[in-house]
Amino acid sequence: MAKTDYDYLIVGQGIAGTSLGMHLVEAGKSFQIIGDSSLPSSSKVAAGIFNPLTGKKLVKTWLADDLFPYARNFYSTLEKKFSCQLVHEMPIYRPFRSIEEQNTYLAQTADPKIAPYISQNEVPADVSDYIHAGHGGIEVIQAGWIDLPKLLVESRRFFSENNQFVEARFYMDDVRISEFGVIWNNKIFSKIIFCQGFMALENQLFDWLPFTPVKGQILKVSTETHLKPYIINQGIFMLPDSESTMRVGATYSWDPLDWEPTQEATEELDGKLRSIFKCKYTIKTGIAGIRPSVKDRRPLIGLHPKHRNVGIFNGLGTKGVTLAPFFANQFVGHLESGKELNPAVNIDRYFSLYFR
Ligand SMILES: Cc1cc2nc3c(=O)[nH]c(=O)nc-3n(C[C@H](O)[C@H](O)[C@H](O)COP(=O)(O)OP(=O)(O)OC[C@H]3O[C@@H](n4cnc5c(N)ncnc54)[C@H](O)[C@@H]3O)c2cc1C
Repeated sequence: MAKTDYDYLIVGQGIAGTSLGMHLVEAGKSFQIIGDSSLPSSSKVAAGIFNPLTGKKLVKTWLADDLFPYARNFYSTLEKKFSCQLVHEMPIYRPFRSIEEQNTYLAQTADPKIAPYISQNEVPADVSDYIHAGHGGIEVIQAGWIDLPKLLVESRRFFSENNQFVEARFYMDDVRISEFGVIWNNKIFSKIIFCQGFMALENQLFDWLPFTPVKGQILKVSTETHLKPYIINQGIFMLPDSESTMRVGATYSWDPLDWEPTQEATEELDGKLRSIFKCKYTIKTGIAGIRPSVKDRRPLIGLHPKHRNVGIFNGLGTKGVTLAPFFANQFVGHLESGKELNPAVNIDRYFSLYFR
């Protein structure tokens, strides 16, 4: 085996590449991350919400009991490292739409698996001065949002200071992959790991994986109403990022899959917002991104079936904030110590697609 310059080459510095890089730092490994600031990134657009109970039926998020404490600890550690606030703990208030919904939800809150995530406060969130909430609502706790744009900027600065970041666009023609190593930019790496989000669809090494990308749009909205520190969730989310500004989202669409906000999505969100928000507001701007979702809604992690020094860390779908840290840790354990990856995320579940 040729002597290598670095252990890993990581392509892409969204939340996937960043989490992986941070765990490699912890493991004492050498690496370079390639990122191109002019390219789009889902992590730059994401609201960054972490929510343990989702959907109309208040279902506990997959592996929430493991993922949430791990993610909280990961982001808090980065806050200390960068001396800035990244974690915004904030309950999610879900107004009941009807008496029936009130009864269903209240019955569900008795479930011991759900109960730890519901506030026991006797006085529920009082947001009734600006939200239609005639039937009351429930408060989901252990929730909030992560400031992903700030996290990406601070992490990039950190990686750059440690000579671990290269501002460049990666092209497949520039890399040579053999069983002896990966050569890029005249440097030899033991392994290359692709963390390209949606852009993995252009990567011929992994284009056989069943990505089902979903476009999403968010609006930035201002209001003269004093917003309280609750994320409101009823069909859409309203995330206050100051006392008078909020982000409102998100849409789900499949065609066209581009990064441009559209008038149609703005109107959809505006209509939903008008039905729940009582006060005046102004739409400032819209931003759009593409979620790297997967057919079975589980991440895509692991090594290529043929090139065992080529890996992928992707498929974080709608939940990159909570999935990325936990599975970056698991992936590093797998790469470095051969620890088993959770079979639900390991790309070997799709190897039959590659070999057919
Ligand atoms: C509207 C919207 C709202 C969302 N809200 C939430 C939310 O509230 N909570 C949540 O958990 N998740 C949310 N998500 C999902 C979240 O954004 C994703 O799960 C996550 O960001 C995926 O991270 P990633 O690192 O895999 O991909 P990305 O963030 O897309 O990162 C991939 C990076 O690779 C780079 N790259 C690709 N190819 C190359 C190349 N050839 N050369 C150099 N660089 C390259 C890209 O430029 C990019 O920077 C939302 C997504 C959208 C669109």
